[in-house]
Parts: sequence; C-alpha cells; structure tokens
Amino acid sequence: MRFAIAVLPGDGIGPEVTQEAVRALERVGQRYGHTFDLSYAPVGGNAIDRYGTALPEETLQIARGADAVLFGAVGGPKWDDPKATVRPEDGILGLRRGLGLYANLRPVKIHPNLMYASPIKPQVLANVDLVVVRELTGGIYFGRPKRRWSTSRGRRGVDTMKYTEQEVRRILRVGFELARRRRKHLTSVDKANVLETSRLWREVAVEVAQEYPDVTLEHLLVDTAAMQLVRSPSRFDVIVTENLFGDILTDEAAVLAGSMGMLPSASLAGLPVGGKAGRRPKGLYEPIHGSAPDIVGQGKANPVAAILSAAFLLRYSLGLEQEAQAVEQAVDATLVQGHRTPDIAEEGRPVLSTREMGAAIIERIQ
Ligand code: NAD
Repeated sequence: MRFAIAVLPGDGIGPEVTQEAVRALERVGQRYGHTFDLSYAPVGGNAIDRYGTALPEETLQIARGADAVLFGAVGGPKWDDPKATVRPEDGILGLRRGLGLYANLRPVKIHPNLMYASPIKPQVLANVDLVVVRELTGGIYFGRPKRRWSTSRGRRGVDTMKYTEQEVRRILRVGFELARRRRKHLTSVDKANVLETSRLWREVAVEVAQEYPDVTLEHLLVDTAAMQLVRSPSRFDVIVTENLFGDILTDEAAVLAGSMGMLPSASLAGLPVGGKAGRRPKGLYEPIHGSAPDIVGQGKANPVAAILSAAFLLRYSLGLEQEAQAVEQAVDATLVQGHRTPDIAEEGRPVLSTREMGAAIIERIQ
C-alpha cells in the first residue's frame, strides 16, 4: 500500500527523535511492502525564524493532504520571550484546530524492566496500563473572553472555561469506545462540585453511558484523580477529561513511566472504526515530551516515544495493526535486552546514543 505522511520535526530534539521514527517507518515499508511518501515541513520556532509564523500555510496544506502527520516537538529558550507576538506553540495549536484533532490519547504502560527509572514504588506500578483521553480543542485554552487589562486598583486577567454539549459528547464517546475495546472501565474526571462546565460534563457523561451498557462509568473529581494516579494507578483503564485537567493529569501520569522519552501520543479527529477498509480519522502523532533544550545536539535523546508514536500512526491512521505491533515488539525486545539511553539507564551502566538506540530498535522490527 502507498501512504502520504507529513513529517514535521520541529525544534530542539524534535528532529533527532523524528529521524529515528522515520527510519522505523522505512523499515516497516521494506518488511511489509508499503511505500511511505514523506513530505517534510517546518513548524514551531524554526518556522518563525524563516517565515515569521509557527505554522506556515504550506505546512498546514501538507498536513491536510497527508494520511497522517508525524510530529517532533516545538519550542525552546530562543523563542521564550513572554512579549513575543508569535510563539512556537501556535504551530501545534494551529494544527489541532486546522485538522480538527479534538481527541488526545496518551497511553501509560510501565515496562517491567524499567520500574527502577520511576520515582514511584514498583509495587504501585505493577499492572499499570491506562489511557488518558484528553479533550483538545475546547475549554479554558480557547474560551473567550481571554485577556489582561489594568484598572485603577491593579492588573486583572480573565480566561473562560466553556464547553458545548456536542464537544463533551464526542470526546466522551471516544472514551467509551476505547474502554469498550479494553477493560471496559471509564473514569470521567471533572470538578463538578465547583464548575458549571463540569456539571454539564457529568450530565452528558451519564447520558452517553446509556449507549454503552457494557462499560462501567465512574466519576472522579480532578483533585481525587490526581491523588489516585500516584497512589493506585493500576485501578484505571480509560480516563476521559477536559483540556486543562487532561494537560496536567497526562504529565503526572507520564512520571509513572520514569522518563518523558518513553511515551507516545496520538491526536485524532475521532476514533477509527472497522479494520483496514474502515473509516480512518486524521491523526497527528508525537512524543509527549517537548524539545528538551538541555540535551539538544548531544545524542542523549531517547527516541522510544517518537518510534512508538510512529506505531500509533500505523495503527490509527493507516489501519496497519500488524505493522504497529511489529514496531512495539521491537521496542519491547530492545528494552528487555538491556539497551538504554541515558534517561532510563541505571547508574554506571552503558548507554546508547539516540542513533544507536534507534538502530537497535529498527533492526528488531520483524
Ligand atoms: P521537555 O519535555 O522538553 O523536557 C523535560 C525534561 O525531560 C528535560 O530534562 C529533558 O531533557 C527530558 N526529556 C524530554 N524528552 C526526552 C527524551 N526524548 N529523552 C531524554 N530526555 C528527555 O519539557 P520542558 O523542558 O518543560 O520544555 C522545553 C521546551 O519544549 C519548551 O519550549 C516547551 O514549551 C516545549 N514543549 C513542547 C511540547 C510540544 O512540542 N508538544 C511539549 C512540551 C513542551
């Protein structure tokens, strides 16, 4: 089969890890007889430097025309000026909006050989296998009014948390669908004791639950969820929540895995239905980490999250389940055999560079 992939490496370690993910895709292409037509495009800080915008129109067009988008990371100290009118993050926000990517999926699974890398006790980490589904295009990040102003009594600021029932319903459906394909337990996280948007969220969750009698729905307040995530993370199967809560909880969940370099993510315009011939939503696939300016150019970046993001791309946007599993198994075998980048290595043990770790994984893709 033939597929068009937009490759947006971005800034910092983005290009370093994305290169390994691309190599993994090329290996899959050779093994399974697929052709991936790759179109590279600028995004983030480097696009600001060259074009004055974090998301050039041409990049958005390339992303729109592709079957899927492979994304690295954006940002860095060079573009951190709080007074700047254009920001690297505008690139990712613009892509989400432009491609209608409203559902962010972040699975967290702890590799049994890597429990020492996590600050959480191994007995707490046993059997952790959860997915956070975060709403991505609504809530307080986008609600209006959103502004700052000065009064005679000092400076003021306002952000607005806003949701429509349609926005809430479609993301809850993604949560229920995913739970149905897994252990059939959905935790809906809100702050219904305080926020009106959360009361709406909870009401809609109860309504949507009628369509999924096989899935158990549980409501948790976000503060309790934050505590449970580190206290007993294995109790969760699928967590669904709004944009701001999801942003915070997903980073907390990432800590369980020990390193930011281990976890992939998918941002989708809905969940795929059916097999190879089914409906494929547009998707953007990226590691959960940022551009890691502290290690850029040193060959220290862990490419696992980027390579696992490529596996998600194969699964969700291209419908290539067997190929996705081949990549995931290659990562697993590499870790089982003790290969480590510095972020996940035990003290005093040998470490591989980004390129070497990528090569170790790629040669195991069967
Ligand atoms: P970060 O994720 O870039 O780094 C946090 C820590 O994790 C650093 O110590 C870093 O070295 C380490 N780390 C991250 N990825 C790693 C990898 N693959 N291998 C080994 N170690 C890794 O977060 P930050 O430092 O808060 O942000 C740096 C920049 O990235 C900022 O400009 C921020 O805005 C941006 N950012 C971008 C995205 C994105 O593109 N989606 C996400 C988060 C942060």
